[in-house]
Amino acid sequence: MTTHEGGCHCRKVRFKTRGEPKFVSRCHCDSCRRTTGAAYSTWVGFMAASVEWTGEPPSFYASSPGVRRSHCPHCGTPLTFESDKWAGERHFLIGTFDDPSAFTPSGDYLREEGLAWVKT
Ligand SMILES: [Zn+2]
Ligand SMILES: [Zn+2]
Repeated sequence: MTTHEGGCHCRKVRFKTRGEPKFVSRCHCDSCRRTTGAAYSTWVGFMAASVEWTGEPPSFYASSPGVRRSHCPHCGTPLTFESDKWAGERHFLIGTFDDPSAFTPSGDYLREEGLAWVKT
């Protein structure tokens, strides 16, 4: 089975995923923009049962009701998104994978909240 590994910049928080992602998609929402500092976010979604933290556990932040975003408590790298709306899933920011070129986004979410200059 295909596995992927990744983690934060300081490498204290690490993770491993098994199998192919459910989706790879860009999100243009304001909440992703603020919590990552990037113009938009590219997410790689897995079922939470197919992923595990292999280093130190991350810290979690409730960015809105029913939503938990994780980051490294040491270096601050944003890592994942989990929501009651997509219960049982864990979405990873593509840049946290050791080989982000393994994934290609196939769609855009909340494009209407996005910045006008972003080409999709
Ligand atoms: Zn770190
Ligand atoms: Zn978003």
